[in-house]
Amino acid sequence: MTPVQSPLIDKVLNTFQTLYKEEPIIVRSPGRVNIIGEHLDYNDGFVLPAAIDKAIYVGISKRNDEVIHLHSVDYNENFTVSLNEVRPTKTWTTYILGVVDQLIKKGYKIGGFNLVLDGDVPVGAGLSSSAAVECATAFALNELFSLGMEKIEMVKMAQKAEHAFAGVMVGIMDMFASMFGKKDHVIKLDCRSLEYEYKPLKLEGYKVVLFNTNVKHSLSSSEYNTRRKQCEQGVAWVKEHHPEVTALRDVNMDMLNKYVLTKDEIIYKRCKYVVEEIDRLLTGCNDLDRGDIKGLGQKMFRTHEGLSKEYEVSCVELDFLVESVKNNEFVLGARMMGGGFGGCTINIIKEEAIKDLQEKLSKDYTKATGLELTTYIAQIESGTERIR
Ligand code: ADP
Ligand code: MG
Repeated sequence: MTPVQSPLIDKVLNTFQTLYKEEPIIVRSPGRVNIIGEHLDYNDGFVLPAAIDKAIYVGISKRNDEVIHLHSVDYNENFTVSLNEVRPTKTWTTYILGVVDQLIKKGYKIGGFNLVLDGDVPVGAGLSSSAAVECATAFALNELFSLGMEKIEMVKMAQKAEHAFAGVMVGIMDMFASMFGKKDHVIKLDCRSLEYEYKPLKLEGYKVVLFNTNVKHSLSSSEYNTRRKQCEQGVAWVKEHHPEVTALRDVNMDMLNKYVLTKDEIIYKRCKYVVEEIDRLLTGCNDLDRGDIKGLGQKMFRTHEGLSKEYEVSCVELDFLVESVKNNEFVLGARMMGGGFGGCTINIIKEEAIKDLQEKLSKDYTKATGLELTTYIAQIESGTERIR
């Protein structure tokens, strides 16, 4: 297997040598896409993510004292703090310090260290650059101090770091995908048991393409919390009749029609999307097993419709991008990806059609919204790994 090549590796190395006059360990941790299965992680459902070629690179070495020295290449900023004074910040350092804090809380013995961070995961686009920073940090510290942690422990630690230090109550998918990604494979992850299975993504002439709306509407986090509560309410109403039910994972349409539709139509719509999306993901996995990318693509369009009309977490910019490619013979599937209210759409597009489509869509998008469109072609790559 050819290791990932990136000019960022040399950049981290050179910056590290100049700044700290030492030879670092270097770790790469990727961003991720999710093919199908949106808003399912907190409903104990499944997701189908994959790690991509855009990644965070961390260089790290030990110090002889109890001090942490951090440097971000992108922000051209240094930050220094004592190991016993680690607390949340409002900057990029919080994702690193959050992991350090988790390690200390779990009783792992670490000393001071030097760290350089660089990356090319677009920030805030829904590709989880923050999870990549956390996973890179956890993996690098595990290597540096020989802590003997398994990947799954680091995943959980990264998630806790995001909760505690960034204050974002993310599910486990982002960290899991970054850590466990496998080249040319998607991960079918059961968010309830954390059991997982790799499935080959045979795109044969097609590519995964992301169109970034370059908007993030402020609704995003409050609506996210509302959706979580609405799903919980739906579960509570079903549970009155089926005590064994603990999440929408355990619920079917029959139950929703009987116990939720009668109470609240909005909550019914939200739950219906989730129940149908779980089913879509499972049948989409069968498509993958048969190499039927077309079938999977059709489901992505339907997911978008559910997210837009029933779960109501889309926005005009995302809807515009999906509508624009819907009847394009070269596009097998498209949908909004991530929490919603902005970020990217994920598309499966015939390779030779990408350039023309991207040019036309850019023009149309700017005309319709006044905004720039950014395009990324995502290669499916391996997860967190030491590369030096
Ligand atoms: P995302 O959806 O990309 O995870 P978040 O807002 O959760 O968006 O996290 C983005 C934050 O992660 C950035 O604001 C920054 O603090 C940190 N980050 C991401 N990439 C880098 C990088 N290359 N260098 C430094 N910090 C980064
Ligand atoms: Mg994030």
